[in-house]
Amino acid sequence: MRYISTRGQAPALAFEDVMLTGLAPDGGLYVPETLPRFSAGQMRAWAKLDYADLAATIMQPFVEGFLAEDELRAITRETYAGFRHPAVAPLVQLGHNEWLLELFHGPTLAFKDFALQLLGRLLDVSLARRHQRVVVLGATSGDTGSAAIEGCRRCANVDIFILHPHQRVSEVQRRQMTTVLGDNIHNIAVQGNFDDCQEMVKQSFSDQSFLPEGRRLVAVNSINWARIMAQIVYYFHAALALGAPERAVSFSVPTGNFGDIYAGYLARRMGLPVRQLVIATNANDILHRFMSSSRYGKSALAHTLSPSMDIVISSNFERALFEFYGRDAAALADLMNRFRSSEVEVPATVIAAARAEFTSFSVDDAMTCATIAGVYEESEYLLDPHSAIGVRAARECRDDPAVPMVTLATAHPAKFPEAIARAGVAREPALPHYMADLFERPERCAVLPHEVREVQDFIRGRMA
Ligand SMILES: *Cc1c(COP(=O)(O)O)cnc(C)c1O
Repeated sequence: MRYISTRGQAPALAFEDVMLTGLAPDGGLYVPETLPRFSAGQMRAWAKLDYADLAATIMQPFVEGFLAEDELRAITRETYAGFRHPAVAPLVQLGHNEWLLELFHGPTLAFKDFALQLLGRLLDVSLARRHQRVVVLGATSGDTGSAAIEGCRRCANVDIFILHPHQRVSEVQRRQMTTVLGDNIHNIAVQGNFDDCQEMVKQSFSDQSFLPEGRRLVAVNSINWARIMAQIVYYFHAALALGAPERAVSFSVPTGNFGDIYAGYLARRMGLPVRQLVIATNANDILHRFMSSSRYGKSALAHTLSPSMDIVISSNFERALFEFYGRDAAALADLMNRFRSSEVEVPATVIAAARAEFTSFSVDDAMTCATIAGVYEESEYLLDPHSAIGVRAARECRDDPAVPMVTLATAHPAKFPEAIARAGVAREPALPHYMADLFERPERCAVLPHEVREVQDFIRGRMA
């Protein structure tokens, strides 16, 4: 399997090189040159596979040339054995034909563990074979940082540096990062906001000369293809449990950077009968505005009760646009260049292609709270604010009550107690028992000024 850039001006790469790169050198994102397609007969035969074995079967074509199927299976078994639920991604019923897919049973209680627990292990295998050491560098406003740290903590050849805005992440989120102690783990609290952190990370990626010879940066944000690949699996797993391939299933996905829902779109293109794919956004609704108007334009960042979806641009949407443009990389590159400075409008064929694949809905903080409270009232199920947005959008957009509608529950409610309190639910969401001592664990974190030089000096000084 080879991977090509959405902007058409970068060399095609094999899986390993794509995993070890961030953006393509032409500014695009890597996508598979062709997708595997699975038949109904193949899917029927998968009914007996547990999560880890299904994951290896589905991902195998993507890593061809890097890992053989038995090697990959050993890795997925180890990865998902670390999740705290025997079903790994259990389904919970909320209403008639209405389901939640709980994706928060990994070590940091959010869906990002599905990809990052795997990515750490894949990096380890690749770097050991190549006798290389890399620096993982990322910025986080919350969930990505802790999932990346947990994913890389046991990697022999990775030094990981995660920037977060000082005093602007929740206490649970901070502690999930700073209480993971290890010589290769470095938390940096930047005296600035999330955009400042992200800007310094971008600058460092574009000029890596501050690193010693032979060392490079690896991106673990959701533009990394390996993360998308790992997320395709749970769409298949859930749909098979609900009757696929005989029966179609719909999904509603709380969306920020468009990584998670893009994986659902790929699952459909790989043969899974997916009826609706609902893009559920918070007040940061660039995608909902695009779907409604065919115009794609930035707006100011809103700080919401669902901080992991607070984005201005959904980076991975470029991968879907590439398909809506019929893989015309030149036309897409032109659009993305114009988009940098102004709002752009796409041709009728492009918006029609987008609307054939996705429905969208935007949920503000008041609706989020009402949904948390309403669902708790109905069934005593406590939704986190991101999952609540998914449930609300699912209920608004659903077109056929005979088709199971599955909302991706992307985080555990204990990560976001403020939102639960704001919703007026009297019950405080408890951390799972294995994390009950989170508030007693020692923390390690450096506070640095918003100065890229100082951050880079720090990285050079601490890396092995
Ligand atoms: C990251 C995150 C999202 C958004 O996922 P994308 O892949 O960026 O669309 C939604 N919910 C939670 C809890 C997250 O951590």
